[in-house]
Amino acid sequence: PPGFTLSTELCRWYYDHDHGFPSSLESEVTAGLAAIESTTGMKFGDPTKPLLVSVRSGARASMPGMMDTVLNLGLNDSTVAGLAKLSGDSRFAFDSYRRFIQMYSNVVLGIASHYFEEILGRHKDALDLVQDTELTADHWQAVIRDYKQEVAHRQNGLPFPDDPKEQLWQAIGAVFKSWMNPRAITYRRLNDIPAEWGTAVTVQAMVFGNMGNDCATGVAFTRNPSTGENDFYGEYLVNAQGEDVVAGIRTPQSLTIASKIANHSTLPSMEESMPQVYGELLALRTVLEKHFRDVQDIEFTVQKGKLYLLQTRNGKRTAQAALRIAVEFVAEGVITQEEALKRIDPRSLEQSLHPRLDPKAARLLLGSGLPASPGAASGKIVFTADEAETLAGRGEDAILVRIETSPEDIHGMHAARGILTTRGGMTSHAAVVARGMGRPCVAGAGSLRVDYSKGILSAVSPETGQTLTVKSGEVITIDGMSGQVFIGTVPTLQPELSSDFATLMGWADRVRKLRVRANAETRLDATTARRFGAEGIGLCRTEHMFFDEGRIVSMREMILADTTDGRRAALAKLLPMQRDDFVALFEVMAGLPVTIRLLDPPLHEFLPHSASEIAEVARASGISEAELRARSNALHESNPMLGHRGCRLGISYPEIYEMQVRAIFEAVISLARSHPNADLVIPEIMIPLVGSKREFEIMRELVDRVAAELTTSSGIVLRYLVGTMIELPRACLEADKIAETAEFFSFGTNDLTQTCYGLSRDDAGSFLGTYVARGILPHDPFVSIDQDGVGALMRLAATGGRRSRPEIKMGICGEHGGDPESIAFCASLGLDYVSCSPYRVPIARLAAAQAALAVGFDERDR
Ligand code: PEP
Ligand code: MG
Repeated sequence: PPGFTLSTELCRWYYDHDHGFPSSLESEVTAGLAAIESTTGMKFGDPTKPLLVSVRSGARASMPGMMDTVLNLGLNDSTVAGLAKLSGDSRFAFDSYRRFIQMYSNVVLGIASHYFEEILGRHKDALDLVQDTELTADHWQAVIRDYKQEVAHRQNGLPFPDDPKEQLWQAIGAVFKSWMNPRAITYRRLNDIPAEWGTAVTVQAMVFGNMGNDCATGVAFTRNPSTGENDFYGEYLVNAQGEDVVAGIRTPQSLTIASKIANHSTLPSMEESMPQVYGELLALRTVLEKHFRDVQDIEFTVQKGKLYLLQTRNGKRTAQAALRIAVEFVAEGVITQEEALKRIDPRSLEQSLHPRLDPKAARLLLGSGLPASPGAASGKIVFTADEAETLAGRGEDAILVRIETSPEDIHGMHAARGILTTRGGMTSHAAVVARGMGRPCVAGAGSLRVDYSKGILSAVSPETGQTLTVKSGEVITIDGMSGQVFIGTVPTLQPELSSDFATLMGWADRVRKLRVRANAETRLDATTARRFGAEGIGLCRTEHMFFDEGRIVSMREMILADTTDGRRAALAKLLPMQRDDFVALFEVMAGLPVTIRLLDPPLHEFLPHSASEIAEVARASGISEAELRARSNALHESNPMLGHRGCRLGISYPEIYEMQVRAIFEAVISLARSHPNADLVIPEIMIPLVGSKREFEIMRELVDRVAAELTTSSGIVLRYLVGTMIELPRACLEADKIAETAEFFSFGTNDLTQTCYGLSRDDAGSFLGTYVARGILPHDPFVSIDQDGVGALMRLAATGGRRSRPEIKMGICGEHGGDPESIAFCASLGLDYVSCSPYRVPIARLAAAQAALAVGFDERDR
């Protein structure tokens, strides 16, 4: 339908000028209206040929359902008569009018919809009618009278505005205002959409899908947004307005015969009921995909057999679908490999790594709905978004169960592990938002009954015919791939990676310059890391190897010993375990680089607390419990993270580091003997928490000495690198000197952020949220590198390091190594690799490719 758009610049103007408009706007809007009038032959406000318009929001990044729209604008007591006459259907005209009053009052006047729903409910009760469709024109007129009275009552006597011009200007303002409503703000925060972008407002001639049975309205995706399959996918409703489809109040019908069969629907598909219109829509599908070179999410209306396209935008999709679509678009020649790489948000890959239900596990089916967003999740049932947030705050898993979710529920959807609705289709807002968030979602599970007041979810079991009931707080499992809902916990399996995933990763690997390693200590983690494509280990935190039962006692014995001999005795017990650990890592990594960091525990992490723990150490070490308690007290630190840890331990107790270095080299030697034809392992030995050149030199001498001893005793000439973590500001300032003896640097950005900012890694969570919400920090600096501060120190260190040792190897191993923005920053510093947790390796590979392709913030598909 014809229309015009007020651009996003105007939205900024509106906010910069206290909700005002530039003086030139009035004449531009008048001209815009005149253009619509001349195309349609209708006139705005005219009682005989009334032009009605919709006033729609629309931003640069799609934010489904987060902002407001007003439909049927231009109706009043005289234009409604014109509409009735023109359409020959006064029931339709008054139905449109009452919808308009409700929507306008809600969006523009801020009067809650439930007041109107209650009035309608009273009328239906009095008439003994159930369906809205049963109300006649006269009935609607009576409803409208009550609606208007309600508006006047809620506005202290101010009547509902009947001047279409006033309606239009108020609606334009309200749509601009909806850019700043709380759910839009939350959505932007979750999706990194800048607030300054603003929304546009489109004023468009109304067309009607509710003028009879040759009318319809619907939504379609040019490909399946859940799986990415290349099939036309969508829903429509005969004789309805668009909001009926997206609001999920009526259950929509399939577009195609194939999906009707797949959904076990008995209602006719559009392909059957409106074959000609369906044919036109199918043709448009190809035209739009070719033009936009991406999957489109279309809204359409059929008015008296004529098809109108209301809007099209790039379709939201699951990560799995995004991969498949991108790879197939490349195969179809629509986009290049580079474009495919640029389009995928690295973070979204986590979704395709989601767990699925173990097919062998026992389960009790409660019911099923539509498979709206993949992944399986178990959790306690909650019936409100707030409860979901509360539970998540306590670290518990929640499944948010709603009859239908509305955009106001977004915070709860985010907090929940999964979402279940009993009404609404695959294109309802709930389904779209869940998919975007990567939350598993089952939508429109019509066989389930929700009773909010009793806090109960119930269904007649499809298997036994018995009524099953689950109460608030009890656990259910949802499977977003099959749409099924189960009582209790069903065990899950880790995902297998699709061939599309492998294809895209292959392209990423060819493009990227940064190498990607993993932070891993165990054989299992190292194996997972390799499966995800890690090219080595960037950080093996040796203290993590001692948390195991069976080792912790010897570790405590060692820490609590107050003589060198006591420590050596405990270390002798640890040495063989440590050696075996390294053998395992070297085996899994088979020639790939492995960086082993010597012990860096804040000691308190290992101190025994309970009486039984102390007794256990006493038994193992032969030291009295009283003595151990005294020693433990003596080791207590007020600020353990800034205390006796890192290389400070190595300096105080060199025997600890000697044992570890010996274990590393003995592992190398043992492998050299058992695999004489394999290349000798060249371990990278890393010293933590170095703050000065001298600390590093002392540690390096220690490593060299042990290496020399073992070379002599084994007859194998050991090769190795010794480098340091760069995780203290002072190390950054003295990096050039440290690099005289250090062969590599690895940025420990967790500690570097902590010490640069003076923010405790362990405690800052309690107020960082407030800082971010108030815009004092753009994001949590422990998640994404603070480039201005921490980043400046890193740059200084990189420059200093290269000055003394141009070929110095540099990487990052803090948590930021798996964060796409931080990875781009590391690429800009020219680091050699990033290292992150195994599950984030694919994210890092793609982010590194995007960094190499210099992907701008906007280019990514959102
Ligand atoms: C760091 O500080 O960034 C680091 C990787 O070490 P850890 O997290 O073990 O202190
Ligand atoms: Mg650290």
